[in-house]
Amino acid sequence: MEPSLNSNGCHDYDIIRWFEEVAENAGFVQTQTLRRIIELNFNTEYLRKWLGDIKVQDMDSTALEALYTSLVPLASHADLEPYIQRIADGDSSPILTQEPISLLSLSSGTTEGRQKYVPFTRHSAQTTLQIFRLAAAHRSRIYPIRAGGRILEFIYSSRQFKTKGGLTAGTATTHYYESEEFKIKQKKTKSFTCSPKEIISGGDYKQSTYCHLLLGLVFCDEVEFITSTFAYSIVQAFTTFEEVWKDICRDIKDGTLSSRITVPSMRKAVLEVLSPNPSLALTIEKKCNELESLDWFSVIPKLWPNAKYVYSIMTGSMQPYLKKLRRYAGNLPLVSADYGSTESWIGVNVDPSFTPENVTFAVIPTFSYFEFIPLYRQNQESNSAIDDFMEAEPVPLSQVKIGQEYEVVLTTFTGLYRYKLGDVVEVAGFYKGTPKLNFICRRKLILTVNIDKNTEKDLQLVVERGSQLLSKTKAELVDFTSHADVKNQPGHYKIYWEIKGEVEEDVLRECCREMDAAFVDHGYVVSRRANSIGPLELCIVESGTFKKILDHFVGNGAALSQFKTPRCTSNEVLLRILNVCTIKRFRSTAYGYGG
Ligand code: AMP
Repeated sequence: MEPSLNSNGCHDYDIIRWFEEVAENAGFVQTQTLRRIIELNFNTEYLRKWLGDIKVQDMDSTALEALYTSLVPLASHADLEPYIQRIADGDSSPILTQEPISLLSLSSGTTEGRQKYVPFTRHSAQTTLQIFRLAAAHRSRIYPIRAGGRILEFIYSSRQFKTKGGLTAGTATTHYYESEEFKIKQKKTKSFTCSPKEIISGGDYKQSTYCHLLLGLVFCDEVEFITSTFAYSIVQAFTTFEEVWKDICRDIKDGTLSSRITVPSMRKAVLEVLSPNPSLALTIEKKCNELESLDWFSVIPKLWPNAKYVYSIMTGSMQPYLKKLRRYAGNLPLVSADYGSTESWIGVNVDPSFTPENVTFAVIPTFSYFEFIPLYRQNQESNSAIDDFMEAEPVPLSQVKIGQEYEVVLTTFTGLYRYKLGDVVEVAGFYKGTPKLNFICRRKLILTVNIDKNTEKDLQLVVERGSQLLSKTKAELVDFTSHADVKNQPGHYKIYWEIKGEVEEDVLRECCREMDAAFVDHGYVVSRRANSIGPLELCIVESGTFKKILDHFVGNGAALSQFKTPRCTSNEVLLRILNVCTIKRFRSTAYGYGG
Protein backbone atom coordinates (compact mmCIF):
# COMPACT_ATOMS: atom_id res chain seq x y z
CA MET A 1 0.00 0.00 0.00
CA GLU A 2 2.91 2.35 0.63
CA PRO A 3 4.21 4.14 -2.44
CA SER A 4 7.57 3.00 -3.66
CA LEU A 5 10.09 5.50 -2.37
CA ASN A 6 12.49 4.93 -5.17
CA SER A 7 10.17 5.05 -8.13
CA ASN A 8 10.80 8.18 -10.10
CA GLY A 9 7.26 8.37 -11.32
CA CYS A 10 5.67 9.14 -7.94
CA HIS A 11 4.00 12.58 -8.18
CA ASP A 12 2.18 14.74 -5.66
CA TYR A 13 -1.09 13.30 -6.86
CA ASP A 14 0.05 9.75 -6.09
CA ILE A 15 1.12 10.47 -2.55
CA ILE A 16 -2.07 12.41 -1.79
CA ARG A 17 -4.15 9.56 -3.24
CA TRP A 18 -2.17 7.05 -1.18
CA PHE A 19 -2.84 9.02 1.99
CA GLU A 20 -6.54 9.41 1.18
CA GLU A 21 -6.79 5.64 0.85
CA VAL A 22 -5.00 4.77 4.08
CA ALA A 23 -6.87 7.52 5.93
CA GLU A 24 -10.19 6.24 4.61
CA ASN A 25 -9.45 2.78 6.03
CA ALA A 26 -7.46 3.98 9.04
CA GLY A 27 -8.85 1.43 11.53
CA PHE A 28 -8.12 -1.51 9.24
CA VAL A 29 -4.71 -0.12 8.27
CA GLN A 30 -3.80 0.24 11.95
CA THR A 31 -4.63 -3.41 12.65
CA GLN A 32 -2.46 -4.43 9.70
CA THR A 33 0.35 -2.09 10.78
CA LEU A 34 0.41 -3.68 14.23
CA ARG A 35 0.41 -7.10 12.61
CA ARG A 36 3.47 -6.16 10.52
CA ILE A 37 5.32 -4.82 13.56
CA ILE A 38 4.61 -8.03 15.50
CA GLU A 39 5.44 -10.30 12.54
CA LEU A 40 8.80 -8.57 12.24
CA ASN A 41 9.59 -8.68 15.96
CA PHE A 42 7.66 -11.43 17.78
CA ASN A 43 10.88 -13.32 18.41
CA THR A 44 12.49 -10.49 20.33
CA GLU A 45 13.24 -10.71 24.02
CA TYR A 46 10.75 -8.00 24.91
CA LEU A 47 7.76 -9.33 22.98
CA ARG A 48 8.41 -12.93 24.00
CA LYS A 49 8.42 -11.81 27.60
CA TRP A 50 4.89 -10.50 27.30
CA LEU A 51 3.36 -12.50 24.45
CA GLY A 52 5.10 -15.85 25.01
CA ASP A 53 5.31 -18.28 22.11
CA ILE A 54 2.62 -17.11 19.78
CA LYS A 55 1.98 -18.42 16.29
CA VAL A 56 1.45 -15.09 14.59
CA GLN A 57 0.83 -16.64 11.17
CA ASP A 58 -2.11 -18.63 12.49
CA MET A 59 -3.79 -15.68 14.11
CA ASP A 60 -6.43 -13.43 12.73
CA SER A 61 -5.29 -9.75 12.78
CA THR A 62 -8.09 -8.51 15.01
CA ALA A 63 -7.45 -11.28 17.54
CA LEU A 64 -3.75 -10.46 17.45
CA GLU A 65 -4.49 -6.79 18.17
CA ALA A 66 -6.70 -7.75 21.13
CA LEU A 67 -4.07 -10.15 22.45
CA TYR A 68 -1.31 -7.59 22.10
CA THR A 69 -3.15 -4.81 23.91
CA SER A 70 -4.23 -7.13 26.70
CA LEU A 71 -0.82 -8.75 27.33
CA VAL A 72 1.78 -6.07 26.61
CA PRO A 73 1.77 -3.37 29.29
CA LEU A 74 1.87 0.37 28.72
CA ALA A 75 5.46 1.54 29.11
CA SER A 76 7.31 4.74 29.80
CA HIS A 77 10.77 5.56 28.54
CA ALA A 78 12.12 4.58 31.95
CA ASP A 79 10.62 1.08 31.54
CA LEU A 80 12.37 0.57 28.22
CA GLU A 81 15.60 2.29 29.15
CA PRO A 82 17.40 -0.85 30.48
CA TYR A 83 16.73 -2.59 27.15
CA ILE A 84 17.86 0.42 25.12
CA GLN A 85 20.95 0.77 27.29
CA ARG A 86 21.96 -2.81 26.53
CA ILE A 87 21.61 -2.06 22.83
CA ALA A 88 23.76 1.05 23.29
CA ASP A 89 26.33 -1.05 25.11
CA GLY A 90 26.67 -3.36 22.14
CA ASP A 91 24.30 -6.28 22.83
CA SER A 92 23.20 -7.18 19.30
CA SER A 93 20.82 -10.01 20.23
CA PRO A 94 17.18 -9.40 19.27
CA ILE A 95 16.16 -7.36 22.30
CA LEU A 96 13.55 -4.95 20.99
CA THR A 97 13.80 -5.55 17.24
CA GLN A 98 14.73 -8.59 15.18
CA GLU A 99 17.02 -6.51 12.95
CA PRO A 100 19.99 -5.17 14.90
CA ILE A 101 19.82 -1.46 15.69
CA SER A 102 22.85 0.47 14.46
CA LEU A 103 21.74 4.03 15.14
CA LEU A 104 20.37 5.61 18.28
CA SER A 105 18.62 8.96 18.32
CA LEU A 106 18.71 11.44 21.10
CA SER A 107 15.43 13.11 21.72
CA SER A 108 16.08 16.80 22.30
CA GLY A 109 15.64 16.34 26.04
CA THR A 110 15.07 20.02 26.51
CA THR A 111 11.52 19.33 27.59
CA GLU A 112 12.44 16.52 29.96
CA GLY A 113 15.67 18.00 31.20
CA ARG A 114 17.86 15.19 29.95
CA GLN A 115 18.38 13.47 26.65
CA LYS A 116 16.91 10.05 25.98
CA TYR A 117 18.11 7.37 23.59
CA VAL A 118 15.57 6.09 21.09
CA PRO A 119 16.28 3.47 18.38
CA PHE A 120 16.51 4.81 14.82
CA THR A 121 16.25 2.60 11.74
CA ARG A 122 15.97 2.96 7.99
CA HIS A 123 12.21 2.97 8.54
CA SER A 124 12.60 6.21 10.56
CA ALA A 125 14.37 7.99 7.69
CA GLN A 126 11.89 6.62 5.15
CA THR A 127 8.87 7.86 7.08
CA THR A 128 10.56 11.25 7.41
CA LEU A 129 10.93 11.43 3.65
CA GLN A 130 7.37 10.23 3.20
CA ILE A 131 5.78 12.79 5.55
CA PHE A 132 7.88 15.61 4.07
CA ARG A 133 6.69 14.70 0.58
CA LEU A 134 3.09 14.30 1.73
CA ALA A 135 3.14 17.68 3.49
CA ALA A 136 4.87 19.30 0.49
CA ALA A 137 2.19 17.92 -1.82
CA HIS A 138 -0.56 19.45 0.33
CA ARG A 139 1.26 22.78 0.54
CA SER A 140 1.82 22.98 -3.17
CA ARG A 141 -1.91 22.69 -3.83
CA ILE A 142 -2.43 26.00 -2.03
CA TYR A 143 0.95 27.69 -2.37
CA PRO A 144 2.53 26.27 -5.51
CA ILE A 145 6.27 26.69 -5.80
CA ARG A 146 8.53 26.72 -8.80
CA ALA A 147 10.34 23.44 -9.49
CA GLY A 148 14.11 23.86 -9.36
CA GLY A 149 13.85 26.68 -6.84
CA ARG A 150 15.63 26.90 -3.53
CA ILE A 151 14.71 26.66 0.12
CA LEU A 152 16.33 28.76 2.80
CA GLU A 153 16.56 26.13 5.52
CA PHE A 154 17.78 26.95 9.01
CA ILE A 155 18.78 23.40 9.79
CA TYR A 156 21.63 22.12 11.89
CA SER A 157 22.93 18.69 12.56
CA SER A 158 24.74 18.02 15.76
CA ARG A 159 27.70 15.85 16.54
CA GLN A 160 27.26 12.13 15.94
CA PHE A 161 29.20 9.97 18.35
CA LYS A 162 29.75 6.32 19.21
CA THR A 163 28.18 4.68 22.23
CA LYS A 164 30.13 2.26 24.40
CA GLY A 165 28.92 -0.58 22.16
CA GLY A 166 29.97 1.20 18.98
CA LEU A 167 26.54 2.38 17.81
CA THR A 168 26.26 5.78 16.19
CA ALA A 169 24.20 8.21 18.26
CA GLY A 170 22.93 11.67 17.41
CA THR A 171 19.67 13.56 17.11
CA ALA A 172 17.02 12.19 14.76
CA THR A 173 17.31 15.29 12.57
CA THR A 174 21.06 14.74 12.38
CA HIS A 175 20.61 11.13 11.24
CA TYR A 176 18.11 12.34 8.67
CA TYR A 177 20.35 15.06 7.22
CA GLU A 178 23.10 12.44 6.92
CA SER A 179 20.81 9.88 5.25
CA GLU A 180 20.23 9.02 1.60
CA GLU A 181 16.61 10.07 2.11
CA PHE A 182 17.59 13.71 2.65
CA LYS A 183 19.25 13.78 -0.78
CA ILE A 184 16.28 11.97 -2.32
CA LYS A 185 13.92 14.56 -0.82
CA GLN A 186 15.70 17.42 -2.57
CA LYS A 187 15.46 15.62 -5.90
CA LYS A 188 11.88 14.45 -5.40
CA THR A 189 10.53 17.80 -4.30
CA LYS A 190 12.72 19.54 -6.91
CA SER A 191 13.73 22.11 -4.31
CA PHE A 192 17.27 22.50 -3.11
CA THR A 193 18.53 23.91 0.12
CA CYS A 194 20.68 27.06 -0.25
CA SER A 195 23.43 25.74 2.00
CA PRO A 196 25.78 22.89 1.16
CA LYS A 197 25.97 20.08 3.70
CA GLU A 198 29.20 21.40 5.25
CA ILE A 199 27.13 24.26 6.69
CA ILE A 200 24.36 22.05 8.02
CA SER A 201 26.88 19.80 9.74
CA GLY A 202 29.44 22.50 10.57
CA GLY A 203 29.08 21.85 14.29
CA ASP A 204 28.87 25.49 15.37
CA TYR A 205 25.35 26.86 15.16
CA LYS A 206 26.41 30.52 15.20
CA GLN A 207 28.69 30.06 12.22
CA SER A 208 26.11 27.91 10.44
CA THR A 209 23.41 30.54 10.99
CA TYR A 210 25.62 33.25 9.50
CA CYS A 211 26.33 31.10 6.43
CA HIS A 212 22.68 30.08 6.01
CA LEU A 213 21.75 33.78 5.98
CA LEU A 214 24.59 34.72 3.66
CA LEU A 215 23.86 32.04 1.07
CA GLY A 216 20.13 32.60 1.47
CA LEU A 217 20.75 36.17 0.33
CA VAL A 218 23.10 35.15 -2.47
CA PHE A 219 20.22 33.06 -3.85
CA CYS A 220 17.52 35.50 -2.70
CA ASP A 221 15.59 35.60 -5.98
CA GLU A 222 15.44 31.82 -6.19
CA VAL A 223 14.20 31.15 -2.68
CA GLU A 224 10.66 29.72 -2.73
CA PHE A 225 10.14 29.37 0.99
CA ILE A 226 11.90 29.68 4.34
CA THR A 227 11.91 26.89 6.86
CA SER A 228 13.33 25.27 9.99
CA THR A 229 12.30 22.30 12.10
CA PHE A 230 11.07 24.38 15.07
CA ALA A 231 10.13 28.07 14.66
CA TYR A 232 12.62 29.01 17.34
CA SER A 233 15.47 28.55 14.85
CA ILE A 234 14.00 31.07 12.39
CA VAL A 235 13.47 33.65 15.12
CA GLN A 236 16.96 33.01 16.39
CA ALA A 237 18.39 33.40 12.88
CA PHE A 238 16.70 36.73 12.21
CA THR A 239 17.62 38.06 15.63
CA THR A 240 21.20 37.30 14.60
CA PHE A 241 20.59 38.95 11.24
CA GLU A 242 19.67 42.21 12.97
CA GLU A 243 23.19 42.20 14.39
CA VAL A 244 25.27 40.87 11.50
CA TRP A 245 23.60 42.16 8.34
CA LYS A 246 26.32 44.71 7.64
CA ASP A 247 29.00 42.01 7.70
CA ILE A 248 26.89 39.85 5.42
CA CYS A 249 26.52 42.72 2.94
CA ARG A 250 30.28 43.23 2.98
CA ASP A 251 30.86 39.55 2.22
CA ILE A 252 28.41 39.65 -0.67
CA LYS A 253 29.97 42.85 -2.06
CA ASP A 254 33.57 41.59 -1.94
CA GLY A 255 33.03 37.85 -2.33
CA THR A 256 34.87 37.36 0.96
CA LEU A 257 33.89 35.55 4.13
CA SER A 258 33.88 37.08 7.60
CA SER A 259 36.66 35.92 9.90
CA ARG A 260 33.97 34.79 12.38
CA ILE A 261 33.68 31.66 10.21
CA THR A 262 36.55 29.52 11.39
CA VAL A 263 35.48 25.96 10.56
CA PRO A 264 37.69 25.17 7.53
CA SER A 265 35.17 22.94 5.72
CA MET A 266 32.49 25.57 6.12
CA ARG A 267 34.75 28.35 4.83
CA LYS A 268 35.73 26.28 1.83
CA ALA A 269 32.13 25.35 0.95
CA VAL A 270 30.90 28.96 1.20
CA LEU A 271 33.82 30.48 -0.68
CA GLU A 272 33.23 28.06 -3.54
CA VAL A 273 29.77 29.55 -4.00
CA LEU A 274 30.58 33.22 -3.39
CA SER A 275 31.78 35.74 -5.95
CA PRO A 276 31.79 39.54 -5.58
CA ASN A 277 28.35 41.02 -6.24
CA PRO A 278 28.37 44.77 -5.38
CA SER A 279 24.98 45.50 -6.90
CA LEU A 280 23.21 42.79 -4.87
CA ALA A 281 25.01 43.99 -1.74
CA LEU A 282 23.88 47.56 -2.39
CA THR A 283 20.24 46.53 -2.88
CA ILE A 284 20.26 44.51 0.34
CA GLU A 285 21.98 47.29 2.24
CA LYS A 286 19.36 49.84 1.16
CA LYS A 287 16.53 47.55 2.16
CA CYS A 288 18.15 46.74 5.50
CA ASN A 289 18.66 50.40 6.38
CA GLU A 290 14.96 50.93 5.85
CA LEU A 291 14.01 47.71 7.64
CA GLU A 292 16.08 48.64 10.65
CA SER A 293 13.96 51.74 11.15
CA LEU A 294 10.83 49.59 10.89
CA ASP A 295 12.10 47.22 13.58
CA TRP A 296 12.57 44.55 10.89
CA PHE A 297 8.88 44.27 10.10
CA SER A 298 8.47 42.16 6.92
CA VAL A 299 12.18 41.45 6.52
CA ILE A 300 11.50 38.05 4.95
CA PRO A 301 9.33 39.13 1.99
CA LYS A 302 11.41 42.30 1.51
CA LEU A 303 14.67 40.38 1.13
CA TRP A 304 13.25 37.21 -0.44
CA PRO A 305 10.70 38.63 -2.88
CA ASN A 306 9.71 35.26 -4.35
CA ALA A 307 9.19 33.45 -1.04
CA LYS A 308 5.66 32.03 -0.86
CA TYR A 309 5.51 31.17 2.85
CA VAL A 310 7.37 30.42 6.07
CA TYR A 311 7.20 26.78 7.12
CA SER A 312 8.05 25.40 10.55
CA ILE A 313 6.60 23.84 13.72
CA MET A 314 4.78 26.76 15.30
CA THR A 315 2.51 24.93 17.72
CA GLY A 316 2.99 23.82 21.32
CA SER A 317 6.06 25.26 22.96
CA MET A 318 6.77 27.29 19.80
CA GLN A 319 3.67 29.45 20.19
CA PRO A 320 5.44 32.11 22.24
CA TYR A 321 7.68 32.88 19.23
CA LEU A 322 4.77 33.45 16.85
CA LYS A 323 4.52 37.16 17.51
CA LYS A 324 8.11 37.74 16.55
CA LEU A 325 7.87 35.38 13.60
CA ARG A 326 4.83 37.28 12.34
CA ARG A 327 6.79 40.51 12.52
CA TYR A 328 9.60 39.06 10.41
CA ALA A 329 7.18 37.39 7.97
CA GLY A 330 4.90 40.42 7.45
CA ASN A 331 2.08 39.32 5.18
CA LEU A 332 3.62 36.02 4.14
CA PRO A 333 1.55 33.01 5.21
CA LEU A 334 2.88 31.03 8.17
CA VAL A 335 2.44 27.33 7.48
CA SER A 336 2.65 24.95 10.42
CA ALA A 337 4.84 21.90 10.00
CA ASP A 338 3.92 18.39 10.97
CA TYR A 339 3.64 16.64 14.30
CA GLY A 340 6.17 14.04 15.25
CA SER A 341 8.81 13.05 17.70
CA THR A 342 12.10 11.27 17.74
CA GLU A 343 10.11 8.12 18.49
CA SER A 344 7.80 8.35 15.46
CA TRP A 345 6.14 10.74 13.07
CA ILE A 346 2.49 11.12 14.01
CA GLY A 347 0.41 13.52 11.92
CA VAL A 348 0.56 15.65 8.81
CA ASN A 349 -0.87 19.12 8.26
CA VAL A 350 -3.40 18.65 5.46
CA ASP A 351 -4.76 22.22 5.76
CA PRO A 352 -1.70 24.40 5.09
CA SER A 353 -3.76 27.58 4.92
CA PHE A 354 -4.89 27.29 8.55
CA THR A 355 -3.23 29.66 11.00
CA PRO A 356 -0.84 28.09 13.54
CA GLU A 357 -3.51 28.65 16.20
CA ASN A 358 -6.00 26.49 14.27
CA VAL A 359 -3.84 23.85 12.68
CA THR A 360 -4.49 20.13 13.20
CA PHE A 361 -2.50 17.03 12.29
CA ALA A 362 -4.03 14.04 10.49
CA VAL A 363 -2.60 10.81 11.92
CA ILE A 364 -0.75 8.67 9.38
CA PRO A 365 -1.94 5.14 10.16
CA THR A 366 0.93 3.26 8.49
CA PHE A 367 3.74 4.88 10.44
CA SER A 368 3.18 3.30 13.86
CA TYR A 369 0.36 1.66 15.79
CA PHE A 370 -1.32 4.41 17.78
CA GLU A 371 -3.37 4.15 20.93
CA PHE A 372 -4.96 6.96 22.85
CA ILE A 373 -5.40 7.18 26.62
CA PRO A 374 -8.51 9.27 27.36
CA LEU A 375 -7.66 12.01 29.83
CA TYR A 376 -10.13 13.79 32.06
CA ARG A 377 -9.33 16.91 34.04
CA GLN A 378 -9.43 15.97 37.69
CA ASN A 379 -12.09 17.47 39.86
CA GLN A 380 -10.75 20.55 41.55
CA GLU A 381 -10.39 19.08 45.01
CA SER A 382 -8.14 16.23 43.91
CA ASN A 383 -4.86 16.09 45.70
CA SER A 384 -2.93 14.06 43.16
CA ALA A 385 0.53 15.51 43.05
CA ILE A 386 1.47 13.50 39.99
CA ASP A 387 -0.83 14.88 37.45
CA ASP A 388 -3.76 17.02 36.50
CA PHE A 389 -5.52 14.18 34.69
CA MET A 390 -7.50 11.03 35.32
CA GLU A 391 -6.98 8.27 32.80
CA ALA A 392 -9.38 5.79 31.23
CA GLU A 393 -8.43 2.62 29.32
CA PRO A 394 -6.50 3.26 26.08
CA VAL A 395 -8.54 3.07 22.89
CA PRO A 396 -7.40 2.30 19.35
CA LEU A 397 -7.35 5.03 16.71
CA SER A 398 -10.72 3.90 15.31
CA GLN A 399 -12.47 4.66 18.63
CA VAL A 400 -11.35 8.20 19.42
CA LYS A 401 -14.01 10.87 19.93
CA ILE A 402 -14.09 14.47 18.80
CA GLY A 403 -13.45 16.95 21.61
CA GLN A 404 -11.79 14.38 23.87
CA GLU A 405 -8.23 14.82 25.14
CA TYR A 406 -5.81 11.88 25.01
CA GLU A 407 -2.25 10.95 25.69
CA VAL A 408 -0.58 9.41 22.63
CA VAL A 409 0.77 5.85 22.94
CA LEU A 410 3.07 4.45 20.26
CA THR A 411 4.03 0.99 19.05
CA THR A 412 6.77 1.58 16.50
CA PHE A 413 8.74 -0.31 13.88
CA THR A 414 11.84 0.68 15.88
CA GLY A 415 11.04 -1.45 18.94
CA LEU A 416 8.93 0.71 21.22
CA TYR A 417 5.87 -1.16 22.45
CA ARG A 418 2.86 0.68 23.92
CA TYR A 419 5.16 3.57 24.73
CA LYS A 420 3.61 6.58 26.43
CA LEU A 421 4.85 9.61 24.56
CA GLY A 422 3.86 12.17 27.16
CA ASP A 423 2.01 14.47 24.75
CA VAL A 424 -1.58 15.57 25.32
CA VAL A 425 -3.64 15.98 22.15
CA GLU A 426 -7.29 16.71 21.43
CA VAL A 427 -9.24 15.15 18.60
CA ALA A 428 -10.46 18.09 16.53
CA GLY A 429 -12.16 16.13 13.75
CA PHE A 430 -11.44 13.55 11.09
CA TYR A 431 -9.72 13.48 7.73
CA LYS A 432 -11.55 10.65 5.98
CA GLY A 433 -11.31 7.98 8.72
CA THR A 434 -8.21 9.19 10.54
CA PRO A 435 -8.30 11.61 13.48
CA LYS A 436 -7.04 15.16 13.19
CA LEU A 437 -5.20 16.10 16.36
CA ASN A 438 -4.71 19.40 18.08
CA PHE A 439 -1.45 19.47 19.98
CA ILE A 440 -2.27 20.62 23.52
CA CYS A 441 0.88 20.27 25.62
CA ARG A 442 3.37 17.95 27.22
CA ARG A 443 1.58 15.97 29.87
CA LYS A 444 4.14 16.41 32.58
CA LEU A 445 3.38 18.98 35.21
CA ILE A 446 5.96 21.63 35.24
CA LEU A 447 5.01 23.92 38.08
CA THR A 448 3.97 22.39 41.33
CA VAL A 449 4.79 23.29 44.90
CA ASN A 450 2.16 21.34 46.81
CA ILE A 451 -1.43 20.75 45.67
CA ASP A 452 -1.10 23.15 42.75
CA LYS A 453 -0.83 21.68 39.26
CA ASN A 454 0.24 23.65 36.22
CA THR A 455 1.33 22.40 32.83
CA GLU A 456 3.41 24.12 30.20
CA LYS A 457 0.21 25.29 28.55
CA ASP A 458 -1.05 26.88 31.80
CA LEU A 459 2.25 28.73 32.17
CA GLN A 460 2.15 29.83 28.55
CA LEU A 461 -1.31 31.36 28.98
CA VAL A 462 -0.23 33.13 32.14
CA VAL A 463 2.87 34.57 30.51
CA GLU A 464 0.79 35.68 27.54
CA ARG A 465 -1.53 37.55 29.91
CA GLY A 466 1.33 39.19 31.77
CA SER A 467 3.25 40.16 28.66
CA GLN A 468 0.21 41.82 27.10
CA LEU A 469 0.99 44.74 29.37
CA LEU A 470 4.28 45.13 27.52
CA SER A 471 2.48 45.84 24.27
CA LYS A 472 1.71 49.33 25.57
CA THR A 473 5.44 49.92 25.88
CA LYS A 474 8.08 49.57 23.18
CA ALA A 475 9.50 46.47 24.82
CA GLU A 476 8.88 42.84 23.96
CA LEU A 477 9.34 39.50 25.64
CA VAL A 478 12.22 37.59 24.09
CA ASP A 479 11.92 34.33 26.02
CA PHE A 480 10.86 32.93 29.38
CA THR A 481 11.18 30.03 31.74
CA SER A 482 10.15 29.21 35.28
CA HIS A 483 11.08 27.36 38.44
CA ALA A 484 9.10 26.13 41.42
CA ASP A 485 11.26 27.31 44.32
CA VAL A 486 10.66 25.00 47.25
CA LYS A 487 13.97 25.65 48.97
CA ASN A 488 12.61 28.71 50.71
CA GLN A 489 9.38 28.52 52.71
CA PRO A 490 6.70 29.06 51.66
CA GLY A 491 7.54 27.68 48.22
CA HIS A 492 6.71 29.95 45.31
CA TYR A 493 6.87 30.22 41.53
CA LYS A 494 9.67 32.12 39.87
CA ILE A 495 9.20 33.30 36.30
CA TYR A 496 12.25 34.50 34.40
CA TRP A 497 11.79 36.99 31.56
CA GLU A 498 14.26 38.31 29.06
CA ILE A 499 12.98 41.56 27.61
CA LYS A 500 14.15 43.61 24.65
CA GLY A 501 13.71 47.35 25.20
CA GLU A 502 13.14 49.57 28.20
CA VAL A 503 10.22 49.09 30.58
CA GLU A 504 9.37 51.07 33.67
CA GLU A 505 9.48 49.20 36.95
CA ASP A 506 5.81 49.95 37.65
CA VAL A 507 4.80 48.13 34.48
CA LEU A 508 6.91 45.10 35.40
CA ARG A 509 5.45 45.06 38.89
CA GLU A 510 2.02 45.01 37.29
CA CYS A 511 3.06 42.20 34.92
CA CYS A 512 4.14 40.19 37.95
CA ARG A 513 0.85 40.77 39.75
CA GLU A 514 -1.14 39.97 36.61
CA MET A 515 0.64 36.63 36.14
CA ASP A 516 0.16 35.58 39.75
CA ALA A 517 -3.55 36.32 39.45
CA ALA A 518 -3.78 34.55 36.10
CA PHE A 519 -2.97 31.04 37.39
CA VAL A 520 -6.49 29.66 37.61
CA ASP A 521 -5.58 26.20 38.93
CA HIS A 522 -7.70 25.67 42.03
CA GLY A 523 -4.82 24.23 44.06
CA TYR A 524 -2.74 27.31 43.31
CA VAL A 525 -5.48 29.81 44.11
CA VAL A 526 -6.33 28.11 47.41
CA SER A 527 -2.67 27.84 48.40
CA ARG A 528 -1.97 31.45 47.51
CA ARG A 529 -4.94 32.63 49.55
CA ALA A 530 -3.66 30.65 52.53
CA ASN A 531 -0.11 31.80 51.79
CA SER A 532 1.08 28.19 51.73
CA ILE A 533 2.48 29.24 48.37
CA GLY A 534 4.28 32.57 48.48
CA PRO A 535 3.92 35.50 46.06
CA LEU A 536 5.03 34.85 42.52
CA GLU A 537 8.45 36.28 41.74
CA LEU A 538 9.24 37.85 38.39
CA CYS A 539 12.97 37.88 37.62
CA ILE A 540 14.17 40.02 34.75
CA VAL A 541 17.34 38.60 33.23
CA GLU A 542 19.86 40.55 31.21
CA SER A 543 19.91 40.49 27.44
CA GLY A 544 21.56 37.34 26.03
CA THR A 545 20.70 35.08 28.97
CA PHE A 546 18.58 32.69 26.92
CA LYS A 547 21.34 32.48 24.33
CA LYS A 548 23.60 31.30 27.15
CA ILE A 549 21.02 28.62 27.95
CA LEU A 550 20.93 27.56 24.31
CA ASP A 551 24.73 27.43 24.28
CA HIS A 552 24.68 25.28 27.39
CA PHE A 553 22.41 22.72 25.68
CA VAL A 554 24.26 22.83 22.38
CA GLY A 555 27.53 22.40 24.28
CA ASN A 556 26.07 19.21 25.72
CA GLY A 557 25.28 17.78 22.31
CA ALA A 558 21.75 19.08 21.65
CA ALA A 559 21.03 20.23 18.09
CA LEU A 560 19.66 23.67 17.39
CA SER A 561 17.20 22.07 14.94
CA GLN A 562 15.43 20.34 17.81
CA PHE A 563 15.97 22.90 20.54
CA LYS A 564 13.05 23.92 22.72
CA THR A 565 13.60 26.34 25.57
CA PRO A 566 12.70 24.46 28.76
CA ARG A 567 9.67 26.26 30.15
CA CYS A 568 10.47 25.14 33.66
CA THR A 569 13.73 24.04 35.11
CA SER A 570 15.27 22.62 38.24
CA ASN A 571 18.58 22.08 36.51
CA GLU A 572 21.29 23.53 38.74
CA VAL A 573 23.43 24.86 35.89
CA LEU A 574 20.50 26.61 34.27
CA LEU A 575 19.32 28.07 37.56
CA ARG A 576 22.81 29.38 38.19
CA ILE A 577 22.88 31.08 34.78
CA LEU A 578 19.42 32.53 35.38
CA ASN A 579 20.15 33.75 38.88
CA VAL A 580 23.51 35.27 38.02
CA CYS A 581 21.90 37.09 35.09
CA THR A 582 18.90 38.38 37.03
CA ILE A 583 18.98 42.17 37.10
CA LYS A 584 15.60 42.96 38.64
CA ARG A 585 13.15 41.10 40.85
CA PHE A 586 9.51 41.76 41.67
CA ARG A 587 7.15 39.99 44.06
CA SER A 588 3.46 39.86 43.32
CA THR A 589 0.90 41.77 45.35
CA ALA A 590 -2.00 39.86 43.81
CA TYR A 591 -3.03 38.19 47.05
CA GLY A 592 -1.98 40.99 49.33
CA TYR A 593 1.38 39.59 50.36
CA GLY A 594 3.70 41.71 48.26
CA GLY A 595 7.39 41.70 48.97
P1 AMP B 1 11.94 15.62 20.09
O1 AMP B 1 11.67 14.18 19.92
O2 AMP B 1 12.87 15.93 21.19
O3 AMP B 1 12.27 16.31 18.84
O4 AMP B 1 10.59 16.29 20.55
C1 AMP B 1 9.35 15.79 20.17
C2 AMP B 1 8.29 16.56 20.89
O5 AMP B 1 8.19 17.87 20.33
C3 AMP B 1 6.92 15.96 20.75
O6 AMP B 1 6.70 14.89 21.63
C4 AMP B 1 6.06 17.17 21.01
O7 AMP B 1 5.94 17.40 22.40
C5 AMP B 1 6.85 18.29 20.37
N1 AMP B 1 6.36 18.51 18.98
C6 AMP B 1 6.75 17.90 17.86
N2 AMP B 1 6.06 18.32 16.79
C7 AMP B 1 5.20 19.24 17.24
C8 AMP B 1 4.19 20.05 16.64
N3 AMP B 1 3.94 20.06 15.33
N4 AMP B 1 3.51 20.87 17.45
C9 AMP B 1 3.75 20.92 18.77
N5 AMP B 1 4.67 20.19 19.40
C10 AMP B 1 5.39 19.36 18.64
